[in-house]
Amino acid sequence: MTYNPLKERYDNMNYRRCGKSGIRLPEISLGLWHNFGSVDIFENFRQILWRAFDSGITHFDLANNYGPVPGSAEENFGIILKKDFNHLRDEMIISTKAGWGMWPGPYGDFGSRKYLLSSLDQSLKRMNLEYVDIFYSHRPDPDTPLEETMGALAQAVHQGKALYVGISSYPADLTRKAAQILKDMNVSCLIHQPKYSMFNRWVEVATGRDPSLLDVLEETGIGCIPFSPLEQGLLTDRYLKGIPVGSRAYKPTGFLKAEDVTEQRISKSKRLNEIAAKRNQSLAQMAIAWLLKDRRVTSVLIGVSSVAQLDDNLKTLNNLNFSEEELKKIESILKGE
Ligand code: NDP
Repeated sequence: MTYNPLKERYDNMNYRRCGKSGIRLPEISLGLWHNFGSVDIFENFRQILWRAFDSGITHFDLANNYGPVPGSAEENFGIILKKDFNHLRDEMIISTKAGWGMWPGPYGDFGSRKYLLSSLDQSLKRMNLEYVDIFYSHRPDPDTPLEETMGALAQAVHQGKALYVGISSYPADLTRKAAQILKDMNVSCLIHQPKYSMFNRWVEVATGRDPSLLDVLEETGIGCIPFSPLEQGLLTDRYLKGIPVGSRAYKPTGFLKAEDVTEQRISKSKRLNEIAAKRNQSLAQMAIAWLLKDRRVTSVLIGVSSVAQLDDNLKTLNNLNFSEEELKKIESILKGE
């Protein structure tokens, strides 16, 4: 089958400006961490990509190590890009990252210039691309000077291999420093990718003299794209009745482990699910909407294992509003009251 994108693909998606940049991103973006690797079903993830693009999702997030096996998500994405999206490249924002362990030896992990730039070359080859839109430092490296890691990102831009750069999981103080170092090299930090969900709210918290990460992002004009907004499925109806066959917590290759599906979390999810039902939303939809209520959040970066899950999540956009009472109830559940 050949892919013909829907003409109406931009009609139902909103696009938010990413920090103070010229780029707008869809309120929902798609990540390829799980479900797009060599262990997964090609036709299934191809259909997911088609539906995503048909629904106005223009942003696809990858990393060198996504799979399993590491690298295979980029390879698969590259094959689908060539088959189906070749003429649509200018309508897409494609990101990749380096920072977690990718190959053996001292040059395949963390934040050296050597690792980041070699990895970017490998990613471009796997995806069969001339450039990515965003290249990220995937995590802070305590042993490499920040100037070196940021220098590598800036070099990627100056070489034309990345249009923009981003950082992931950097704490507030390092984010501020990273942004300044990049600025001194005439490159803006476009975006920060932190873990952020109803169950993980570190980005909201000020520590010591440092403001919260969200405040620093606002102050520095950097966009925010939360990852694992559904806590890998815990903030959906997936585990409300146990661990289903085929779910991420069930699969041996999944990052979510059975022991992460704790009674305490599921009991919170059940109570949140009741509030979602009263809003005529699924729990997944409410969890995404809850993140999007903050205008500092540019886009929410979801994962899905099926077209049905993607469709469910896209319906979030029909109701992004919360009453004060709903927010209070959610807050009290999250606090464990
Ligand atoms: P989510 O928290 O969105 O979890 C996705 C999983 O939740 C799906 O695989 C599926 O589980 C389940 N799910 C999704 N929608 C529904 C639904 N409507 N109903 C029921 N279950 C649902 O995100 P991910 O953890 O996948 O992360 C998203 C992206 O963030 C990644 O692909 C990656 O791009 C990025 N990321 C970045 C990291 C970083 O360090 N920068 C780290 C981790 C992720 P199931 O598979 O069981 O069906």
